[in-house]
Amino acid sequence: MSVHPLANHRAHDYRALVREWQALAKEAGLKMEVFARVGELPVYVLRTKDAARDARPTIYLSAGIHGDEAAAPWGLLAWARENVARFKTDRFLIFPVLNPHGLIMNTRIDQDGADLNRSFNVPGHPLITAWLRVVAGREFALALCLHEDYDGQGCYLYELNPRHPVVGHAILNDCARVLPIDQRKRIDGRAAKDGLIVRRVLPEMPGHPEAIVLHLMGTPLTLTFESPSEFSLHDRIEAQKTFIRSALEHGLRRG
Ligand SMILES: [Zn+2]
Repeated sequence: MSVHPLANHRAHDYRALVREWQALAKEAGLKMEVFARVGELPVYVLRTKDAARDARPTIYLSAGIHGDEAAAPWGLLAWARENVARFKTDRFLIFPVLNPHGLIMNTRIDQDGADLNRSFNVPGHPLITAWLRVVAGREFALALCLHEDYDGQGCYLYELNPRHPVVGHAILNDCARVLPIDQRKRIDGRAAKDGLIVRRVLPEMPGHPEAIVLHLMGTPLTLTFESPSEFSLHDRIEAQKTFIRSALEHGLRRG
């Protein structure tokens, strides 16, 4: 009898995920560091080992800011495993799990009961302050924030793109080979078309998400991807992987 590859998947085992990243970092030549601590838990960042005076812009990847969205961090890891060569050609800054407490507890919120993705404008927030120190002075060519949604009826995407032609539909077309696209006309209170919510200007939000700060830093394209939490974990991980691959293909190929 064959065992399903995900039958024993420890989706909320933070330490297992960290061990996988440590092994990958060694293989890929990525520098992996603890940039913050929440209680006893280390929070990690990985970066390509940059040559001095390397002026190439960086690709920003982040997952696990909401702990009950497990396919995002595992999808990011799965993508990285299959794209080790890419870390030699491009510069990356990767936050594999921004909310380890949430991942372990399978909850959206952090150890203080806050939504970290509405806390980026909270003055003196310890984790955000540490995050700001890491990203300070960086220029990002593209930023990808990976999420999941329990209300999602398929994949959808927020595109924060102040200047260039929309790329989200091409990316969602690729994701549609793995999971359906969410066809709701309104998603989370915002107008959506074929799973895409485009923002040319900033939405009014009292608590700032990660994507807004990246946008305010001058990132020309910030994409927030959502896979539907109620679908199979295997397919959601595949969708996250497909999203990253396609976003790098379509999101960087711009004049
Ligand atoms: Zn989320």
